[in-house]
Amino acid sequence: MTWLITGGAGYIGRHVVHQLAEAGERVVVLDDLSSGSADRIPAGVPLVQGSTLDRADLDAVIKGHGVTGVLHIAAKKQVAESVAEPLLYYRENLTGLQNVLEAAVAGGVRKVLYSSSAAVYGTPDVDLVTESTPCAPINPYGETKLVGEWLIQAAAKAYGLSTVALRYFNVAGAAAPELGDDGVSNLVPMAFQRLTDGQAPLIFGDDYATPDGTCVRDYIHVADIASAHVAAVRRLNAAAEPISLTLNIGRGEGVSVAEMLAVIARISGNPVAPQVAPRRPGDPARVVASAELIHRELGWKAEHDIDSMVSSAWAAWQLRH
Ligand code: UDP
Repeated sequence: MTWLITGGAGYIGRHVVHQLAEAGERVVVLDDLSSGSADRIPAGVPLVQGSTLDRADLDAVIKGHGVTGVLHIAAKKQVAESVAEPLLYYRENLTGLQNVLEAAVAGGVRKVLYSSSAAVYGTPDVDLVTESTPCAPINPYGETKLVGEWLIQAAAKAYGLSTVALRYFNVAGAAAPELGDDGVSNLVPMAFQRLTDGQAPLIFGDDYATPDGTCVRDYIHVADIASAHVAAVRRLNAAAEPISLTLNIGRGEGVSVAEMLAVIARISGNPVAPQVAPRRPGDPARVVASAELIHRELGWKAEHDIDSMVSSAWAAWQLRH
């Protein structure tokens, strides 16, 4: 088996590439390097610079490397940007996926693993979100991820593919400092940025119907995200008959913004009191995964806690700043 990893140079992709390579899987990366970097790919893993928007790039890498499975991670992932530029998000995320599926089918690839997101659920009104909680995305990013799941399921039925869609909850941390997140668009790096600039971290709203009034999320270490991909790849490698799975990747534990900021203050040694800012439009009060199905199906479970996420993210931040 050789797995093509699209977006393998990005934050999540490079963690997946490292763990798959360490697990002995043969992998090749396709990345346009728009946000990823070539020097984060492990030695010995081929990197092809190209785009999922270019069918010829996909055909060439699938044929040239004898690809037998595709792990499609390449995507745009910023919610606010998706609201401002929906056409860009639909093109990158859905035209990109359509090309990947067309090239896979044409190239005889029958196994597809897809990066989805908790954003497909929108603002779920349940304590623990299961995979059968109704999907109702509230922004173009979440829409593209949900339509992507539908497209994969339809293609799987029509062409006999085996597929796994993994719905990531709130990803944080780094397996090694040089693998950390380059972006500053989520709570942990945004708080680091404020502290680095000598400002108080912001809490977007403290009047939610949650125990401390701040939003609750299910944070998951990127190394755990990567190990879930390794488990899913093994399951797909072993599947003699087509399989179709859609699975949450979370820890099943809710942590509030105020709680996260307290951990960030302790670990960074910056005991600056956070400042309350207005609610951010579209933020649900609580989104916490049920992680039971993935445990049942893949035997996977998260191993890292919040301290491990924040301390590894802080080490990565310090390396870069
Ligand atoms: N958040 C915050 N201050 C920040 C950044 C984020 O209070 O500086 C909150 C945000 O409103 C949300 C939670 O932290 O309730 C997680 O936000 P993030 O953007 O990391 O992920 P999301 O859950 O929106 O995908």
